Amino acid sequence: MFFFTFSQLSSKLAIAQSPYSHFVALKNFSQKDAHCRYELSLSGHIASVVGVLALISTWSKQPNLYLQPLIETLGFYRIAFSKRSPWPHIHEQAKLARVPIMMYHDILPTKEVFFDVTPSELEAHFQLMRAKDVTPISLNLLMIHLQTGLRLPEKPILLTFDDGYGGHYEYVYPLLKKYNYPAVFSIYTKGVGNNSGRTHVNWEQLREMAADSLVTIASHSISHPHDLTKLSDEQLLKEVKLSKRILEAQLGLNIKYFTYPVGKYDDRVAREVATVGYQLAFTMSDQDERFAGASHSLLAVSRFGQSRLKNAIAQAWGGQQLTPCQKNNLTN
Ligand SMILES: [Zn+2]
Repeated sequence: MFFFTFSQLSSKLAIAQSPYSHFVALKNFSQKDAHCRYELSLSGHIASVVGVLALISTWSKQPNLYLQPLIETLGFYRIAFSKRSPWPHIHEQAKLARVPIMMYHDILPTKEVFFDVTPSELEAHFQLMRAKDVTPISLNLLMIHLQTGLRLPEKPILLTFDDGYGGHYEYVYPLLKKYNYPAVFSIYTKGVGNNSGRTHVNWEQLREMAADSLVTIASHSISHPHDLTKLSDEQLLKEVKLSKRILEAQLGLNIKYFTYPVGKYDDRVAREVATVGYQLAFTMSDQDERFAGASHSLLAVSRFGQSRLKNAIAQAWGGQQLTPCQKNNLTN
């Protein structure tokens, strides 16, 4: 049974657009042509529903004007969710879309390795995305898309930052707030507050970030082993399960996503990640970079290195528009 509540919807379904940007469309929506003319997608529409719900709670004059489209809309989503792909498979419609997931590591003023990014370079990336009408989405929204095939914004992208570096709090988080861009931070728990070598975020900073709807925290193990596939069953269980428990206890959140250190996994590792209760796991491979929908499964979601941003956003596409009339075409 898939539980899909408004509180889940509103908590982390952040997209870069204003949640009220589609509100005008709902306002002009008549009951008569509600069924077929109004196109449904995830391009801010769920956010619109949440926005309407919030407004309904404060409005008393004409609630019915807004209630009917809401019911129609939720009815469609209920059908979409009832037709979602069996986990951890990716929905056939989502396979057609091209959602790039960008992977960043440390952000710091002076580069030490080639994949370091300076704060000004990161802001240039954000400006490029804005100039190209790219919409950064949250991981929860991507998860819904991958399971239902519902369309995302025209040019979606997911931003991910690995390893919990101090620069993520100092430079990335302020930029996310400035641009209103959601992102995922993958944290290995032993690194938190450890400033020997590179600096890392501490628990207080992480709690502040995790409480922000723009931020999703994923587990990245406890000690960041170079290759999880080489660990004993006991070690593997500890890295996967205990890291989830520690993050949940420290942050007061349900940690639903895992990022394989160095992208390395096999069937045993993926099975453990699933058994422990993660819903999705990120991998990475310089030799095999794919759009999200082309990933092997929700337990091996592919990413692009940040240096491929320009090319990735040139191809980004949120998938096919579905309408209520196409609901029967929502196949598994
Ligand atoms: Zn890592």
